[in-house]
Amino acid sequence: MAPTATDTEATPNGNANNNSNSVALAAPTDSPPHHHDPSPTLRFDTLTTHNAAPEQSTGALIPGIALATAYAVDDVHIQGVSRPTYTRFGNPNRNTFEESLAALEHGKHAIAFSSGTAVTTALVGLVGNGGHIVSVDSLYGGTHKIFTQIVSKTQGIETTFVDLCTPQGLEERVKQAVRVGQTKLLWIESPTNPDIRLVDIARVSKAAKAQDPAITVVVDSTFTSPWYQNPLELGADVVMHSVTKYLNGHTDVLMGVAIVRDDALASHLRLHQSALGAVPSPFDCWLATRGVKTLGVRMREHGRNALRLAQWLSAHPLVRDVVYPGLPSHPSFELVARQMTPRSKQAQLDTGLDLSQGIQYSGMLSFRLDCDPSDSEPGARLLKELNVITLALSLGGVESLIEQPSTMTHWMVPEEERLKLGIGHDLIRLSVGLEDVRDLQDDLDQALQKVLGPVSSTDQSQISVTNKKRKTTA
Ligand SMILES: *Cc1c(COP(=O)(O)O)cnc(C)c1O
Repeated sequence: MAPTATDTEATPNGNANNNSNSVALAAPTDSPPHHHDPSPTLRFDTLTTHNAAPEQSTGALIPGIALATAYAVDDVHIQGVSRPTYTRFGNPNRNTFEESLAALEHGKHAIAFSSGTAVTTALVGLVGNGGHIVSVDSLYGGTHKIFTQIVSKTQGIETTFVDLCTPQGLEERVKQAVRVGQTKLLWIESPTNPDIRLVDIARVSKAAKAQDPAITVVVDSTFTSPWYQNPLELGADVVMHSVTKYLNGHTDVLMGVAIVRDDALASHLRLHQSALGAVPSPFDCWLATRGVKTLGVRMREHGRNALRLAQWLSAHPLVRDVVYPGLPSHPSFELVARQMTPRSKQAQLDTGLDLSQGIQYSGMLSFRLDCDPSDSEPGARLLKELNVITLALSLGGVESLIEQPSTMTHWMVPEEERLKLGIGHDLIRLSVGLEDVRDLQDDLDQALQKVLGPVSSTDQSQISVTNKKRKTTA
């Protein structure tokens, strides 16, 4: 086993065994001095709610948006000064956001970009001409596009896609895929997208590094947020998020962030950030900082709603299959219990949940309709019949969003590969929001009945009985 995930709530210096509290949360060279170092012993919800210090000059509890692009300096010697000089190199809003993310992911440095995709681009910059990437075989469509349509052509970078989710023979598959000296990146997305399986991050990292210790292990942790998963505690070198999703959480910011412990990796990312210039605006950083204040509360509710909905859908006669890693029937269920952050586990135990019956693990689930996987019509019609749940790309916001991956987010994956991954037209991906879950159930039920129903009266009573049972168990 790799380092066990402790619930050391913040180890901003990136080293759980280092007792020194003197290291600042994250100190990019152009950040202003800290006047607000939340103690490293503070817990998750305290770190998030206190993620922005009051403005020093006025005491304003919520710092303003620093729109200035240029800052007056004292003299010509500006290299290495801690105050901001030019907003692309750093500004108060971005620094605040980065510091809070470094703490939440138990890292040392956080580097923010204008999108999750810009983070991916900066990380692929580690590979170099003719290099090689080993990637999980089921991942975000845009990342797949960068690997197979951009860097493959511009830099001759080859990517080998590997099943990193099936536990049997995992080390052997990693060993076969790694090309010693040529493989620079191991790309993990966990949970995977859209089939919501988990990668054993500790096991895969160890297997890759046993082949070549120089490999950089990246985890795209967008689907869980730091509440449910802290990949740096499991042996990853980089954790990245599309801030656009859960971290901001309100469907109004496009942004990305990478968090690392290693100084050299941080320098690489800082160079890409400042020199290539895909930086977020101060306003976006300000909004995302506000979003993060409620991260823990939101993630717990996303998880609660998603588990309830997954259980309800499992009992629905018009649904063939439900894919939610917190269901005991899911192949990654054991791994969820092992890999989730101790804090998210404890929070559920504290509410009296019996985790052997189901685990709340973020808000993403998929389900398969009882229809022909090669026919896109039933799914397409179902999504148009919904009134509360919105047919839209994206995920992780307070409102529930639904989509058909085969036609909307994963159409560029060759059909043969898609079907092998179980992404048929019958598969529907749902980002469960914070609505009253009963309204989500009613909405799905009426749409399912319209498109695939009607359900016989005995089956009907089964749906409502299951509903009643749910109320007492969840
Ligand atoms: C959305 C997303 C991305 C890309 O992020 P953008 O902010 O849209 O550029 C990367 N990975 C995952 C898992 C995503 O969901």
